[in-house]
Amino acid sequence: MSTASISSCFNKTVREHYMRLPQGDKCQVTYIWIDGTGEGLRNKTRTLDSEPKNIDEIPEWNFDGSSTNQSEGSNSDMYLIPVCMFRDPFTLDPNKLVLCEVLKYNRLPAETNHRMKCKKAMDQVKEHEIWFGIEQEYTLFGSDGRPFGWPKNGFPAPQGPYYCGVGADKAIGRDIVECHYKACLYAGIKIFGTNAEVMPAQWEFQVGPCVGIEIADQLWVARFLLHRICEDFGVIATLDPKPMKGSWNGAGGHTNVSTKQMREEGGLQYIEKAIEKLSKRHAEHIKVYDPHGGQDNLRRLIGHLETSSITEFSAGIANRGASIRVPRQVGQEKKGYFEDRRPAANCDPYLVTEAIVRTCLLDDDQEVKSN
Ligand code: ADP
Ligand code: MN
Ligand code: MN
Ligand code: MN
Repeated sequence: MSTASISSCFNKTVREHYMRLPQGDKCQVTYIWIDGTGEGLRNKTRTLDSEPKNIDEIPEWNFDGSSTNQSEGSNSDMYLIPVCMFRDPFTLDPNKLVLCEVLKYNRLPAETNHRMKCKKAMDQVKEHEIWFGIEQEYTLFGSDGRPFGWPKNGFPAPQGPYYCGVGADKAIGRDIVECHYKACLYAGIKIFGTNAEVMPAQWEFQVGPCVGIEIADQLWVARFLLHRICEDFGVIATLDPKPMKGSWNGAGGHTNVSTKQMREEGGLQYIEKAIEKLSKRHAEHIKVYDPHGGQDNLRRLIGHLETSSITEFSAGIANRGASIRVPRQVGQEKKGYFEDRRPAANCDPYLVTEAIVRTCLLDDDQEVKSN
């Protein structure tokens, strides 16, 4: 059976003593950013003299980009530009978590900073009041490199009883899911819900609906909370879109989308228009739906195990084997939203939502570049 990491075995009661010490007027602020892999998160903490009341009161900072795959050693200082602030569920009020954009020495966005372009696209379509909700699937791994709770040799019983399952033989690692849910609520993440997934030790949480750029900001911070909580329990949450080969489900980042028009009476016609446009740019979307230009999704989008083909676009009502699914209720009410099932679990939501906006609302022929 999987083992927990060494640091998670520290005596947490001893830790509690220090965590309860008063900290005066000072405030701990943890800066969070996306590293040079476009997948990994980094963070470091500093003290401010008082609690910041809004994001403008949090100063820019910097870090050594040569240690995060973000710059050459000879020109290594990178800027951290605070973009949004959350309550810190680990050290509690008044301490903060702050998501940052990364700029290079010349103050242009770092290669893996896709927020600025995304924001620009979102600002151009403000009148559409676009909402996004993203489903984040992930898989828990033990420190032995096997999915958490899986036998060391061999495999658990086949998929079937695990999705939304209950019972010690079906729900593996629920402590993490419940702690993450509470931490999200405390921090101010618009978490929509959670459920156990089809593969044992695989789970999902959803964020949204959020307007425009907020979905990606929130999802990145929700991912940070997940990784940080897993640290306390000594397990690892991987966002790999196909952590286990064979008849085991992969992990996606289903992206649900609606505009004001789609949500209003008769909105289905606008959903159909968007799907028509998406059908013409399938390959371009696949390129930015995982951090490796489609290579990760090649392992996941195989046309079965609730996925569509990576090479062919498809859409359908209530069809979980299609690229785009229109939920049954939306088909019945003739208004609502659609679900793009193609993004991988390790996608960058800035790239995914930008691509959707450009294709569906900006009629942008310009290729959505991965950097
Ligand atoms: P599924 O049936 O695909 O598993 P979930 O219940 O896991 O769906 O997730 C539904 C997602 O859809 C949530 O993230 C929610 O925020 C989002 N959502 C709900 N209504 C809308 C809407 N009108 N526009 C965009 N997203 C929406
Ligand atoms: Mn879901
Ligand atoms: Mn799911
Ligand atoms: Mn879904």
